[in-house]
Amino acid sequence: MTTPSHRMLIGGVRTAAANGRELPAVNPYDARAFAAIPDATPADVDAAVAAARTAFEEGWRRVPGVRRAELLHRLADLLDRDAERLGVLESTDNGKLVRETTGQVRFAARNYRFFAGYADKLGGRTIPLDSPDMLDYTLAEPAGVAALITAWNSPMQLLANKLAPALAAGNCVVVKPSEHASITTLELADLIEEAGFPPGVVNIVTGGPQTGGALSAHPGLDRISFTGSVPTGRAIAAAAAQNLIPATLELGGKSPNIVFADADQDRAVTGAVAGIFAAGGQTCIAGSRLLVQDTVYEQVVDAVAERARAIRLGDPLASDTQMGPVANRPHYERIRAAVDAGAASGARAVTGLDPLESDTDGYFVRPTVFADVDNASPLAREEVFGPVLSVIPFGDAEDAVRIANDSEFGLASGVWTNDLTRAHWVAQRLVAGTVWVNTYRASAAQAPFGGTRGSGYGRERGLEALHEYLTTKNVMIDLSGETSDPFSIRT
Ligand code: NAD
Repeated sequence: MTTPSHRMLIGGVRTAAANGRELPAVNPYDARAFAAIPDATPADVDAAVAAARTAFEEGWRRVPGVRRAELLHRLADLLDRDAERLGVLESTDNGKLVRETTGQVRFAARNYRFFAGYADKLGGRTIPLDSPDMLDYTLAEPAGVAALITAWNSPMQLLANKLAPALAAGNCVVVKPSEHASITTLELADLIEEAGFPPGVVNIVTGGPQTGGALSAHPGLDRISFTGSVPTGRAIAAAAAQNLIPATLELGGKSPNIVFADADQDRAVTGAVAGIFAAGGQTCIAGSRLLVQDTVYEQVVDAVAERARAIRLGDPLASDTQMGPVANRPHYERIRAAVDAGAASGARAVTGLDPLESDTDGYFVRPTVFADVDNASPLAREEVFGPVLSVIPFGDAEDAVRIANDSEFGLASGVWTNDLTRAHWVAQRLVAGTVWVNTYRASAAQAPFGGTRGSGYGRERGLEALHEYLTTKNVMIDLSGETSDPFSIRT
């Protein structure tokens, strides 16, 4: 196996898998293994959950919010310090542009700071009851031990969405990144130790579906938060149901990006390009269905196609590259199959159909545009998670909303218009966790993010994210000093 071998973090100890097995970390730009990660066994998962439980019961649950905030701020400082190094590592692991991955590390830091701000402000409330002799108040308590399982497309950012609120709320965690991009999460272990988090508060195990399955089914969990595909989301929801614990599921999407004729066309076309070709379309929020009003339809299709053809593919570490390779071989093959099926489906292939030969054996897919896509066809219904755009014409706003909402998903959406009334009218009617107006792919630590329908449930970022990791305890105290009738309810 190639070096260097990375180590997991269990109970404050850097460790290999119990059976010594490893998985390769492959650079999608040249298809070469550049490192190795432990392939954790169920015994490793047991040890990690036990370490988290011990750390929670024996100390972390009573650590004051002000101290948790201090540690989160320190972690954010360390992420900012190491953003460029981690960005290069993440790009080497998943092929995304280094300017995107470095930005995501800084955005992760912003999220740790945002939730640090809440850590010492998590109070309950006092509640007046019908009887003045009863005192009632609530405590906002940490849930306990949370499993945090992430996908390969944005490891640092996806983890921050979960880890920051979980720690701010006082939980201990077991993290499992994707086997396709674990390196930065394993590097984060060093920063967690350097920041001064006590051993066992954050545990990190690596491995594939078997490791993820052992973790998500573990009876020692109080919460589980998952980012990934719909089928895995279903398996995790089923495991959570068995354990009777709440789950947060951030799954896929087939998000509509709607361009009205009155929109500023240059901005809208740029938004369409950002929506589907940034990060090679490998984002859950990809605006993969471009809905364009019929009066400007051909113009917009031509403009998007022209921009798509001009995108510079290449080394994700080079500053002038606009799209890197897609993240791994199986994913490359899935995207190619979707493109071939699209070509055979009757949709108009506008650009990007031919496979791209790469000098480096990298997994490159050309920016691809299909027009006149039937919203009932697989091209419009199934997530490709790659640089493949389906353009669909519409007549009026009602038509746009009808097509947009005719989907199994409900994650994100975009509206391009200069008509204020129409913008609000459409925003109210879209079935989606996020609506962007005259922008696309904007993110903020303060703004809640998540989906509905097949895109999952629960929210990350914003105040809402904290509630995923807190539980409410109600305390009721009888101040009357009287002995009450045991056979009637005290109110
Ligand atoms: P995936 O479901 O294959 O894997 C995600 C994670 O789950 C990995 O860590 C994997 O090892 C683990 N896993 C796999 N099988 C498991 C099982 N049976 N039990 C428990 N864990 C298991 O997804 P992926 O291919 O890594 O990611 C792509 C998907 O993620 C896309 O569908 C995309 O839309 C989605 N995604 C969603 C968001 C969001 O916030 N909504 C963000 C990014 C990606």
